[in-house]
Amino acid sequence: MTYIPPKPFAWNHCGICGNPLEEAFDGEQMRPYCGDCNRHYYRNPVPACCVFVRDADNRLLFAQRAVEPCRGRWTLPGGFMELNETGEQCALRELSEETGLTGQNPRLLGVSVSQSADKGAVLVVGYVIESWHGTLQPNSDVSNLRFYDKAERPDVPFEAHRELLAHYDDVCL
Ligand SMILES: [Zn+2]
Repeated sequence: MTYIPPKPFAWNHCGICGNPLEEAFDGEQMRPYCGDCNRHYYRNPVPACCVFVRDADNRLLFAQRAVEPCRGRWTLPGGFMELNETGEQCALRELSEETGLTGQNPRLLGVSVSQSADKGAVLVVGYVIESWHGTLQPNSDVSNLRFYDKAERPDVPFEAHRELLAHYDDVCL
């Protein structure tokens, strides 16, 4: 099946009352606005996480994507943050869902923002999870899992993951 990317993200109508939005000044700049609801609509980066998990040989865990975009490519395990979830909870949930592993005490590595065709921009929070147990079981958005030596790492399609990998190599190796 051919993958057709979604249209760029844009607000044309109020999500509450359905009226067409106008452009109005919010004190800083012009933004989409609904006069009936007195509400500005803000387009912000969408928060996501990715996790750095290594094995006893110091190899990093990568996941092969089972879904678009970039289906079939290898990335760090991770995903989008849910409402009412902390970054740490998101990291441990995504680790569990995608890899079957149970982790503890995720440690903040860094943050990177990159542009995304369908989300506008994604803010990725990287966590190092040094304490984990369980058996690798690809699930959710993932078709395969593998630990990679630094020299053999796959070419990761997401800019934010590449930036965080470089930061990981600077501070964690
Ligand atoms: Zn409205």
